[in-house]
Amino acid sequence: MPKENLLGDLDGAFVHLMTNLAQERLSIAVSAIAAAEHLLEITTQYVKEREAFGRPLATKQHIRFEIAEMATECAVTRTFLDRCIADHDNGELDAVHASMAKWWATELQKRVADRCLQLHGGYGYMSEFPVARAFTDGRIQTIYGGTTEIMKEIIGRSLLG
Ligand SMILES: Cc1cc2nc3c(=O)[nH]c(=O)nc-3n(C[C@H](O)[C@H](O)[C@H](O)COP(=O)(O)OP(=O)(O)OC[C@H]3O[C@@H](n4cnc5c(N)ncnc54)[C@H](O)[C@@H]3O)c2cc1C
Repeated sequence: MPKENLLGDLDGAFVHLMTNLAQERLSIAVSAIAAAEHLLEITTQYVKEREAFGRPLATKQHIRFEIAEMATECAVTRTFLDRCIADHDNGELDAVHASMAKWWATELQKRVADRCLQLHGGYGYMSEFPVARAFTDGRIQTIYGGTTEIMKEIIGRSLLG
């Protein structure tokens, strides 16, 4: 390869990759909260329309609690991610906080996808419904870009050595 085509430093690919890991993990976390919020939105609409025992699902207390809990978890997560984005913009996002953002937001996405699918009942299992596709598509989020377990290793190492 001609020298002028070299990107970055010679033999420095691994270092370049490591340098951008925090940004990659933050971007996965951002896509995770966006997916979770979207699922919550379509499920909120669904439970208002779907009727069981003559009344919309949305009138049942359990359903309302499910929606309320997910909305709370999404709001809290978004607040933390907003802080991480601001840190990133200032060049201050470290590996530990990027790891926290990544594992927490992607595990949240997984939980929200599972709960939203459950609220769709049998239709949630049908691939024609967006929630079924989102359940499958989202499953990779806790694996690539560094698994949840490795994120916790990074955080644990920073606290415990
Ligand atoms: C669709 C897809 C896209 C991908 N895209 C990319 C990409 O663009 N670039 C790239 O570099 N990689 C990519 N990957 C690879 C991805 O980053 C790895 O799959 C991931 O890091 C997990 O590694 P592994 O599959 O070898 O699992 P393993 O390392 O075999 O891990 C298996 C399990 O053991 C756990 N585990 C491993 N080590 C420890 C430990 N020390 N302590 C506790 N638990 C541990 C893991 O968390 C996991 O649950 C992609 C993977 C997939 C499936």
